[in-house]
Formats: sequence, C-alpha cells, structure tokens
Amino acid sequence: MAKEYRHSVSLDRDRCKGCTHCLRRCPVEAIRIHDGKARINSNRCIDCGVCIDVCPHKAKKATSDKLADIKRFKYTVALPAPSLYGQFDNLDDIDYVLQGLLDLGFDDVYEVSRAAEVVSGLTRIYLSRDDIEKPVISSACPVIVRLISLRYPYLCENILPIQPPVDIAAHRARERALEKHPELTSEDIGIVFISPCPAKVSYIKNGSDGKKSDIDLVLSMSDIYFDLLDVMKMELSSEPISHTGMIGVSWASTGGEASALFNDKYLAADGIENVIRVLEQIDNGNFPYLEFIELNACNGGCVGGMMTVENPYIAKARLQTLKRYLPVSENWDFRDDSNAEIPEKYLSGPVEYAPVSALSSNMSEAMAKMSRIQEIHKMLPDIDCGFCGSPTCYCFAEDVVKGSADISECIFMLREKMQKAAKEEQHEDQ
Ligand code: SF4
Ligand code: SF4
Repeated sequence: MAKEYRHSVSLDRDRCKGCTHCLRRCPVEAIRIHDGKARINSNRCIDCGVCIDVCPHKAKKATSDKLADIKRFKYTVALPAPSLYGQFDNLDDIDYVLQGLLDLGFDDVYEVSRAAEVVSGLTRIYLSRDDIEKPVISSACPVIVRLISLRYPYLCENILPIQPPVDIAAHRARERALEKHPELTSEDIGIVFISPCPAKVSYIKNGSDGKKSDIDLVLSMSDIYFDLLDVMKMELSSEPISHTGMIGVSWASTGGEASALFNDKYLAADGIENVIRVLEQIDNGNFPYLEFIELNACNGGCVGGMMTVENPYIAKARLQTLKRYLPVSENWDFRDDSNAEIPEKYLSGPVEYAPVSALSSNMSEAMAKMSRIQEIHKMLPDIDCGFCGSPTCYCFAEDVVKGSADISECIFMLREKMQKAAKEEQHEDQ
C-alpha cells in the first residue's frame, strides 16, 4: 500500500465558513465542502498553497518547524533558499543575511544557491546525452513533480533525475559539519532549511526515494524574517561567508534555472494555472524542439512562495540589483565536461505515476463507472455553482459514482425531485 503523503497545508475547521473560495480555486479539485466546512483530499492535494492565499477567513494554514526547535541539536546548519535574499531592501552583500543567521544561533550556513550552481552544471551534462527523454522537466519545484506523478504518466520519465539543490545542499552541509567537528555524530547535527513555500516543507517531511531527508527542520521564511531583520547589523566579518554567484541567486525567480544551462531551447513558466496549460501541451506532444522546461507553481518562481514576505516582483527586482555585485558562478564543479558521469549520490530515483482518479483496477468496472459519470453529468445543469460542495458538476458526478456524494446534494436535482413528487401527489389527489 502506498505510504500516505504528509501535507503541510491544512484546515482550521473552526475558522472555515464554507464560503467556497478555496473550492473554486484549487487547481487539482482537491477540496470539497461537507457540512459547511472545507475538506482537503490528501491524495489529490499538491501543496500549492493557492487555498491559503484565497481564503478570506485565514482558515487554511501551512505548518513548519519553529526556530526554538534548533535547540534540540548540538550543532545546526542553516540552509537559506536564494529567495530569502530578495526579502531585504538595499541588500548589496549576501553576507549580511548569512551573518544574521549565525547571530540568530546557527553554527554554520550552507547556501542552497551553491548547490543550485552544482545542479546547473550537472543538468548541462545530462542534457548533452542522446539517450534521454526530451524535453527534460526541472525537478526543483515539488508541486510540479507531485502534479506530474498524479496526472501525467507519460511525463514522469521527462523529469530531471538529479536531486534538487536543497537535497544536495543538505548532504554537503552535513558532510562539512562532520569534517569540521569529528567529535559530533550525525544525530548531533541539525540541518535546517529556510523555506519559501509549504510544498518544500511537505517534500522534505515525506523524504525522497523511500529515504528520510537529510534535512531535520524546515522553517518558514516569513516566521524567521523579523528575528533575522532584528539581528542583521549591516556589519561584515573579515572572512567572506557566501560562495554563490549570479547563477545560484537566479534560481530564486522564473527563468533562472533554465538560463544557467546556456542553451536557448528552453521554456520557463510560472503560476500553477499556466503550468498546467504547459503540461497539457507537452503531454499532447507539443514543443518537441525544446530541450528543457522549467516550471514553477508560484507566480514569479520561488520568490512568490506562500512563506515569503515580499511581493515576488519586488523581490525579483532586488535580486537583480544584488546580482550586479556577484561573479557568474562560484561553483563550477562540473564545468564544460559533457562526457563526465553524474555522480550517483546526486541522482534521484524515478518519479512513479500514482493516479488519484482511477475509478477501478478492473477495466470493465472502470468503463461502467465512467459511463455512469457521463450519464449523471448530462442530468446536471453544468453551471459549476459549487452549492453541492464539489468544484464542478463533472466532479460532483464523479463523487456520486465514487459514493462520496449523494445526487440529492445538487439543489437543482433536489428541486426537480420535489417538483416531480408534488406533481405526483397532485395527480393522486385528483
Ligand atoms: S475559502 Fe475554503 S477554507 Fe476558507 S472559509 Fe472558505 S471554504 Fe473555508
Ligand atoms: S494546497 Fe493547493 S492543491 Fe492543496 S488543497 Fe490547497 S489549493 Fe488544492
């Protein structure tokens, strides 16, 4: 049996008013309203965070660890996502942020953007191979990877089989901590990712390739922002801390990952609705001339994550300015060597298709259910009013056939039934 996916997006039932805002906007139809309260279908949810954004009653929330949790470890390493640098005004040196993290209590920092530069080099090597499925789709946004695994069986093979930067950063950070401090055990070390979005929290909490993640805690960027701002003194230590160039920082916004491939046969899209449209087109065989597809669920890329504090476009503009002071890259580990082998430790396992909408494992039963769905759908008004608690009339028909809704929950069907009953009664009285 497949392991249940742990989500960081959840509902506060007491706050929920059943207003249907989230029901209408969830891009994967994961929400239903029952008894006046929203309910998230865990098998369908991709942790995109759209429902958090649109809920007027703050009934949807994203969970993450707290800064105080770092005390559980003898030695902690912070892994800041590059989008963190775009949250601060007038930042002309990344070290102000990194020094701030050390002053907050971390013993070391390892920038995710460093690992991103390594992934850019490895992706260039991967793309030079002739035996791979193209276009290759980035594996960096966990919303996209989960979406493909649930809905697009033929695209699973196109996902880049290289670990996302956050995993490589975590691995390297732990190795460095153990090297610097041989007296510590791996359990003494806490690797702490500072995340821009709930999807990365879920991704890390679920582990990958059947293994526990190397990351022990995930903090929300918005949770630590003010603490960090308080300790950032705008004074620098004599030794540089950052080892990131323009390439690594560019990963924070859309197009950054793709442009680091030095190959113009790419497409970069953001925003979950646009991304779904692009995936539909790739699934239909469009874009055969493209080599790489970068897709980000959030508007503007990771700078638009639900756990950031700044408007994504302002954050992007700030990063633009910050990049002026940086070299192209500080991590050329896999430069210009298209024949190099990708080290095994950086590879990720295949993405497996895990359908959520299968009606039955028995083909004839599935066909029968499908035609029942079509029949019920034809009877419905097809106005997607949401009063029944399903996002569309088609979803409602599906829910009825799957047994999770009753046809009388459609107010139009109920009205029709009542009118019919009244007529029959009248007829009997005459
Ligand atoms: S948007 Fe969804 S979670 Fe928020 S109050 Fe309305 S139904 Fe409840
Ligand atoms: S997080 Fe996204 S996929 Fe999950 S219920 Fe909310 S809107 Fe739907």
